Amino acid sequence: MSTYDAQPTRRPLKVAVVGSGPAGIYASDALMKSGRDVSIDIFERLPAPFGLIRYGVAPDHPRIKGIIKSLHRVLDKPQVRLLGNVNIGSSLTVVELQEYYDAVIFATGATGDRDLTVPGAELKGHHGAGEFVGFYDSHPEFSREWDLSAESVAVVGVGNVGLDVARILAKTADELLPTEIADNVYSGLSHNAAREIHVFGRRGPAQAKFTPLELKELDHSPTIEVVVNPEDIDYDEASANLRRESKITDQVCSILESYAIREPKGAPHKLFIHFFEAPVEIIGEVDPETGQQRVAAIRTERTQLDGTGNVHGTGEYTEWPVGAVYRAVGYQSDPVPGVPFSNSTHTIPNGGGRVLDTDSTPIPGLYTTGWVRRGPVGLIGNTKGDANETVGNLLADWEAGTLPQPTHTDIDDVVKLLEERGIEYTTWEGWQRLDAAERAAGEAEGRERKKFVEWADMVAHSRETLSARV
Ligand SMILES: Cc1cc2nc3c(=O)[nH]c(=O)nc-3n(C[C@H](O)[C@H](O)[C@H](O)COP(=O)(O)OP(=O)(O)OC[C@H]3O[C@@H](n4cnc5c(N)ncnc54)[C@H](O)[C@@H]3O)c2cc1C
Repeated sequence: MSTYDAQPTRRPLKVAVVGSGPAGIYASDALMKSGRDVSIDIFERLPAPFGLIRYGVAPDHPRIKGIIKSLHRVLDKPQVRLLGNVNIGSSLTVVELQEYYDAVIFATGATGDRDLTVPGAELKGHHGAGEFVGFYDSHPEFSREWDLSAESVAVVGVGNVGLDVARILAKTADELLPTEIADNVYSGLSHNAAREIHVFGRRGPAQAKFTPLELKELDHSPTIEVVVNPEDIDYDEASANLRRESKITDQVCSILESYAIREPKGAPHKLFIHFFEAPVEIIGEVDPETGQQRVAAIRTERTQLDGTGNVHGTGEYTEWPVGAVYRAVGYQSDPVPGVPFSNSTHTIPNGGGRVLDTDSTPIPGLYTTGWVRRGPVGLIGNTKGDANETVGNLLADWEAGTLPQPTHTDIDDVVKLLEERGIEYTTWEGWQRLDAAERAAGEAEGRERKKFVEWADMVAHSRETLSARV
């Protein structure tokens, strides 16, 4: 008799996955690949799946967006059901989920921007990178318009999100037109006045969080001149060690060095990458049109390496006249009501993906994976390893018989509950309709896709046949 046969029932293991980003989808894949008889419902707050692949990855990165195609293979499987437009915590509570599933995996990712705690952070014209990403990637909950009147712009943070924001600001709207951007985004970007983009890092080239490919591709746009000051290329002992230990760090440093020494190519938009400049204040001025205070400059303090890879201030300050400041200092996860959450790490406390309560003991049946599990760092591929560990522990608990028994075992019960509540849930078939409609809208303009922006439109396209049935 197999361990699975030893379970009290022979029905499939029922798992709810909360979040249809890569982490949730890879967790579903790992469950199916385990060979167990499983039935998986993926709940997604938005009407469309794929999380930050759809709403974070930049539109001029079609190769990365293409990962969606490989995720289709998981969602195509009969054991998996997508229930979109369902917010866990409000449409359904976590306690309710536990009545319908043996286990729940939280893969809710991150959408918020971490704060920049400097004076002037409240000024108009200071934005979180995530808000701008939400605009250009057409997240339905973010603004449809964006003020792009500043000729000189600061981006705080030397990671890939900072590079995305700087690159989108430095490119022309026409360069981005062949991508999937929506009409309102193209029209907003065509009024972009930015000619100088200044990216600031507090530490040095060896401490930058860029990845080589993303850093190198900045140079591919004919409109962008990447500028690095040779004085900003500096390493201490710890930095030199880092270069020796990490191929990625070494490649990033080499690319930055090549930017610092090459002849200018004469492109119209300057993208400066500054190191050893710690932002200390955003300075405001009264906007004559609105009478409101808005961003006029950013003040930085020059820093110096201290031998350990950390820096200290030198007391030398520079004021950079800029009309907008974007902070790209990290994304942040939000709590899910009814699930423990650490307000210091902004993650769900867990041990190997098992959700822990305040005494650090695992809560039977609750699991987590992806960015909400380990914090907003790492690429899409990194969420796979996480998912495998979480699912491994879930299956071990299932086989040990420690999962609580749900009261509803019929897989249609949860759909009945959503219908009773009047929740306009979207489905995998619905996504295929929406996908086809977006592709058709793009095709009409010789593009692969044109994204739909409005929540109601996405629901309407997804639910076409469902609505017709009612
Ligand atoms: C701006 C940006 C650009 C990036 N570019 C790249 C790139 O080019 N290449 C790369 O490899 N990686 C990139 N990444 C990293 C990549 O996006 C992440 O590694 C990955 O998306 C994390 O996956 P996740 O599933 O944990 O979270 P997410 O992708 O955030 O997915 C979480 C999902 O959960 C849903 N959700 C949240 N709360 C609830 C709830 N209460 N109920 C139901 N559903 C809920 C969300 O709507 C979302 O769909 C980028 C990240 C950002 C922020």
